[in-house]
Amino acid sequence: MARGVSMALSEDQGSIRKLDVDTRTGLMGGARYAPSPNCDDRPSGEEISLVVIHGISLPPGEFGGDEVEAFFQNRLDASAHPYFREIEGLRVSAHLFIRRDGRIVQFVPFHRRAWHAGESCYAGRTGCNDFSIGIELEGTDDLAYSDQQYAVLNEVLRSLFTSYKRLDNHSVVGHCHVSPGRKTDPGPAFDWKRIGCAVKDESFGAHDV
Ligand SMILES: [Zn+2]
Repeated sequence: MARGVSMALSEDQGSIRKLDVDTRTGLMGGARYAPSPNCDDRPSGEEISLVVIHGISLPPGEFGGDEVEAFFQNRLDASAHPYFREIEGLRVSAHLFIRRDGRIVQFVPFHRRAWHAGESCYAGRTGCNDFSIGIELEGTDDLAYSDQQYAVLNEVLRSLFTSYKRLDNHSVVGHCHVSPGRKTDPGPAFDWKRIGCAVKDESFGAHDV
């Protein structure tokens, strides 16, 4: 019940969001929980040590609909758009989805492994899903992300840094950095300086897989 009250406040009054993480449940206060079946256990003893930022919109470039949530819950109607045929049958998810207006949806508890990075490598380690949290921003590579998204993402990151001690400004990267040549999101439109991170693409080149 208390959680419901918190959610109502966060959606009506963005300035008093409560984004604390309950490390027992792995859920973030202020996020609406919409469970995805596309997850499993992290490897035994694995600590969360990376955050991967993504961009997504379905159909690409269209915002505000239910399609991303449907996609992560394996209920996207493939007949509704030609692009949906291309991604039909994919089983993917992310921990969080931050909408253009700053609302947050959580699909996977943080202690579980979400399926967001795919083939990937960071600092010589492959399989970034094992040790990362995946955050999807509603958007595209080349359209500016919204002020609300940057504001909420900053709050989310601060909360994650508090709850998971191996995370800090140096452990936040883009999907483009861990899957170079295969993925481009969150794209050139994402301004890393606005989240206090100055990611250099060159530092990841040696780990291309
Ligand atoms: Zn991605």
